[in-house]
Amino acid sequence: MKTVMQSYPVNQVYIGGNFVTPHGSELFDLFNPVNGKLIGQVQLADEVDAEMAIAAAKSALPRWSATSKEVRIEALRRLQVSVAASKVDLLEAVTTEYGAPQRNSYMVDSTVTAFSNMIKTLEEFDFTRKIGRARVELAPVGVAGLITPWNSDAFFIADKLATALAAGCTVVIKPSEMSAMQTHVITKALHEAGLPKGVLNIVTGRGDVVGSAITRHPDVSKISFTGSTETGKIILSQAVETMKRVTLELGGKSPSIILDDADLEEAASGALMAGFANSGQACVAGTRILVPEKRLAEFLAIATEKMADFPVGDPRDPATAIGPMVSERQWNRVQRYIHRGVADGARIVVGGPGRPTEFPEGYFVRPTLFADVTNDMLIAREEIFGPVLSVITYRDENHAVEIANDSTYGLHAYVFSSDSERAGRIASRLEVGRVSINGAYEPLSPFGGFKQSGIGREYGAFGLEGFLEPRSIMA
Ligand code: ADP
Repeated sequence: MKTVMQSYPVNQVYIGGNFVTPHGSELFDLFNPVNGKLIGQVQLADEVDAEMAIAAAKSALPRWSATSKEVRIEALRRLQVSVAASKVDLLEAVTTEYGAPQRNSYMVDSTVTAFSNMIKTLEEFDFTRKIGRARVELAPVGVAGLITPWNSDAFFIADKLATALAAGCTVVIKPSEMSAMQTHVITKALHEAGLPKGVLNIVTGRGDVVGSAITRHPDVSKISFTGSTETGKIILSQAVETMKRVTLELGGKSPSIILDDADLEEAASGALMAGFANSGQACVAGTRILVPEKRLAEFLAIATEKMADFPVGDPRDPATAIGPMVSERQWNRVQRYIHRGVADGARIVVGGPGRPTEFPEGYFVRPTLFADVTNDMLIAREEIFGPVLSVITYRDENHAVEIANDSTYGLHAYVFSSDSERAGRIASRLEVGRVSINGAYEPLSPFGGFKQSGIGREYGAFGLEGFLEPRSIMA
């Protein structure tokens, strides 16, 4: 315990360019998800710390908001170089803290590319536009409050920070209280990049204390939040009094639609990969696999075999694809859903309740594939946030689209087909913010949800506009 704590002094917050001991004194336990043992305690910030961080961001705003595009690009470059230099430490922290398999180093790579992607966006972005007789200026919205979840805390810090700085905003970041180690690593890297004091402030505390103080504060103009739909609704209601601009990236129950012309080997691999990303603890996880009725038996046989490509295990083992769940609470939640699936009549094809026999302690679950799932079952409607996938059959294309859209969520979808034009036509009918056809990915395209998956968009130019206010000047 001592060595872990020595490498991560999680008793500091970052305000006005300095690491300081928080005013808050509450301690929050951190557990090793591999064995459930206590590994450290975070000293949490409180409302006083939040106030100080907001004041620092406010006082740095006039100068930062007046900087040129070149100055912001230069700052983003320094941040990128500094974060890139901490990749090894960051990977170690995410593994220790929430059991992220080291094989998935994309978690860390994307934290670095968040900066290069925003540099690219900024280079091509026009802050002044002409509309008839008006000159439209896109002005920074003000102090931004950035609230991140534990499942990819460092990436979300990097992405939201890069976007806010590119827009000319100063920020107060409220990372997840469960991510103090990765927050420490990235804060140190960001500090070393030497931004002007007060532009960046980071206060780790409880959501209902520090998060709430930020979302209610009159000096904060914008909230960018990633997390659960439940918390997103609370944040939206807290932000209304001061009429904050709010971007919410929330939960999902994303469909993976396998068309009848798909190569099932490739589609099964792709669908499992989409479902098991980040050990299933991802908002974009493709958790409803829609398979044509007539190819069900064939799909299940192939998918069962392919499950072996996603071994559960120690996150430090390079073979491991699925690590433990982040917490005991999350382990229990996954178990409840597996039991509920069985009770509702779904059939376990692979996996099931309990721990894998090789991992009798910690928060390991058995990656589970359910068949005979109907879209009205709870396991097809609610976000489980674990490696539990539901196979649902459909009759024809229209039926597939109907099932895919029959959800309160609308974050992401995946389509697998050997005919990309046909897949594209299906994609255009889906009520979701992003569709990936045969695994394609574009980081600069807007990311966010329809329906209860969120409000607004992140990444690229759409993300940048979320931190800007248009001002029309007519002459
Ligand atoms: P999870 O349960 O997966 O941690 P949450 O949506 O609860 O997901 O948390 C995401 C982030 O929102 C965390 O940083 C958390 O501390 C924060 N949070 C939780 N409650 C609130 C709140 N009332 N106001 C602001 N932030 C909150």
